[in-house]
Amino acid sequence: MTKFDKKAMQKFNQIPDDMKAKILSNVYCSNCKDTVKIVEFTATTDRDDLLLSGKCAKCSKKIARLIEERLKV
Ligand SMILES: [Zn+2]
Repeated sequence: MTKFDKKAMQKFNQIPDDMKAKILSNVYCSNCKDTVKIVEFTATTDRDDLLLSGKCAKCSKKIARLIEERLKV
């Protein structure tokens, strides 16, 4: 189940696809102690930053990635 709030969805869609792919496959997992791919993620906004919360593709532990507003092109 994917739950994006409207504002988060708009922001997420503004990210270029290549950057999106890069972000989604470079999330740090504290359990794997490595950068992993985030799966089954949801997106919400925290002030103007976009927060992705999901699971590690390797161990299924909950991980999150904050995308700062300034990263937006
Ligand atoms: Zn992991």
